Amino acid sequence: MRTFRYLYGPVPSRRLGRSLGIDLVPHKVCTYNCIYCQVGRTTEETVVRKEYIPKEEVLEEVRSFLAKEGPPIDHLSLSGSGEPTLHSQIRSIIEGIKGMSKTPVAVLTNGSLLYEKEVREDLLLADVVLPSLDAVSQEVFRKINRPPGVFSVDNVIAGIVEFRKIYRGQIWLEILFCRGVNDGRDELRRMKEAIDRIGPDRVHLNTVVRPPAETWARPLSNQELEEIRVFFGERASIITEFDRHLFSVSEGNRRQEILKILKRRPLSHVDLSKGMGISPEELEGEIRPLVQEGTVRVRFFEDSVYYEMAKRDESL
Ligand code: SF4
Repeated sequence: MRTFRYLYGPVPSRRLGRSLGIDLVPHKVCTYNCIYCQVGRTTEETVVRKEYIPKEEVLEEVRSFLAKEGPPIDHLSLSGSGEPTLHSQIRSIIEGIKGMSKTPVAVLTNGSLLYEKEVREDLLLADVVLPSLDAVSQEVFRKINRPPGVFSVDNVIAGIVEFRKIYRGQIWLEILFCRGVNDGRDELRRMKEAIDRIGPDRVHLNTVVRPPAETWARPLSNQELEEIRVFFGERASIITEFDRHLFSVSEGNRRQEILKILKRRPLSHVDLSKGMGISPEELEGEIRPLVQEGTVRVRFFEDSVYYEMAKRDESL
């Protein structure tokens, strides 16, 4: 059975259902270095757009995956181990995918490059774009997203506002809250103003629910998130845990799939077993040897057991 290099999952997704991830940049190339990042600290912080991964290889993998028999997929999602709009060919990759499938294409972006006209135009064919916006003041922006010096959060917001003007698809804005960092009263008030300026279709509120890049990035309580949801109004919702859309992986490939998924992000025992459509006991049987041999390690976060790669394996 074929192993894909640039595709992962389908993995549990809180917003996109059963979503096939398409990774457009290597781990971990990003314009930001967020304190809460679940794929770890950024190793290459850059604003340089280029063809990080050969476009034709990505499209060939998607074509090959779609040709397989299997349960339907809800979204084909450009995301992965960093910022997908850094890929200079993202427009023709979306065009290529649209040419081979009717499945909606989603782009999960931090929105940092939308101030560039070319990037805004590159995303026009996507069905849903999910930009993040965790701060509206420069000081909080620097603290939570840790961008390179060139970035101004005012420009980032202006870029998303401009994108809204020309884009006909859905915009789901995500705000991730870290306790004591971006949840201050004044920041929330200004965020609400920014949301009104942008006019997204939905606003998704999130907090630190998976092991973060920095251990001091802490979550808000459900009650605090709920208060923010009410303050932000009817467009806002709290993203709930994935609990449906099981997917299966063939027996022979389970170990490989587990490693591929964990290479991109830590996952809890519950998420991993639900996502793979296997019982917690079956997962235990698969994962225990990986932990014993030192390939995967256990990490505790907020009363849950998570698994993550103990060391990087670029062949996965
Ligand atoms: S959370 Fe997203 S934007 Fe932030 S560092 Fe991680 S990949 Fe980049």
